[in-house]
Amino acid sequence: MPRPRTGRRVRTLLAAALTTLAPLVFLTGPAQAAPAAAGAWTPAPAPVVSHVETDDPVVFITIDDGWATEEAAGARQLLLERRIPASLFLLPDAYERDRDYYRTLLAHGPSRIENHTTTHPDLTTLTEAGQRAEICGARDRQLAAFGDGPRLLRPAGGATYNWPYHNADTRTAAPACGAEAIVMWTHDLTTWGSWTPPTPELKAGDIVLLHMGPTLEADLTRALEAADAAGLSPAPLRDYLLG
Ligand SMILES: [Zn+2]
Repeated sequence: MPRPRTGRRVRTLLAAALTTLAPLVFLTGPAQAAPAAAGAWTPAPAPVVSHVETDDPVVFITIDDGWATEEAAGARQLLLERRIPASLFLLPDAYERDRDYYRTLLAHGPSRIENHTTTHPDLTTLTEAGQRAEICGARDRQLAAFGDGPRLLRPAGGATYNWPYHNADTRTAAPACGAEAIVMWTHDLTTWGSWTPPTPELKAGDIVLLHMGPTLEADLTRALEAADAAGLSPAPLRDYLLG
């Protein structure tokens, strides 16, 4: 059933405003139930978050994709030893190559697996139905693999990382698949190729982006040292974003 024109316009304007203001402005309010329109269920748009507004001395560690676990044994040990509550935005095809790696992380530490779509497409090229298929499909595979569904979405940027990775349809597709917030990041501390980004001065509420793979242990170590230097501790993102 087509959605009411005015509702779509409001969502589009809101998303445009958020895109303009991000990453300085973000929403952390709980999702409100949208009024049913002629029997159709349209969830309230999920907030887009690139930084968490908090006075707590915390930072948030997020790790994407999930490939090359065989080169990240040291990173897993570090996550477990320091009990880092990382948010792992994983692709199903990646964790299915090495479920034991992630099962160990979930069983012995506070990390959680979240949604990064099924095939890593540029979501903005898809219809809302196509986006729901990507996001709900990843949710269903995660439930089957780990018995725990994702609650947060990090949209993928396709093969060429087309910014901004999401649009107004993403913000309604995500909550329809159980993801109550769309999580971007404040700082990408991933070593890309041979280039390691400079380490920033972290602030309370910053979200750090890392990627699974051979550089994760070193990248995570730099992130934790920057957090320590700023007097900040890693905290669970769900605790700050979900009502
Ligand atoms: Zn990715």
